[in-house]
Amino acid sequence: MAYVITELCIRDGSCAEVCPVECIVDGGEEEGSYFIDPETCIDCGACEPECPVDAIFYEDEVPDEHQGAIAKNRAWFEEGPGYG
Ligand code: SF4
Repeated sequence: MAYVITELCIRDGSCAEVCPVECIVDGGEEEGSYFIDPETCIDCGACEPECPVDAIFYEDEVPDEHQGAIAKNRAWFEEGPGYG
């Protein structure tokens, strides 16, 4: 399990500043979102309250309309520019 950043993200960046394991990265202007590496996230929950638009959810609590974000966060690190 991990925390997930959904499409609601406005790239504020406050989340990345508080992550103790630095697993939140900026996907850039084109993606329009930050992403969380699910393999590194330790589920500490520190990022969730920092988000000004409530874009971050625990994986089990991601709303139905944002379920696609779970795979997207993972793919960013496994297949996309976030790889490695
Ligand atoms: Fe980082 Fe903790 Fe948020 Fe996971 S839950 S992304 S470890 S701040």
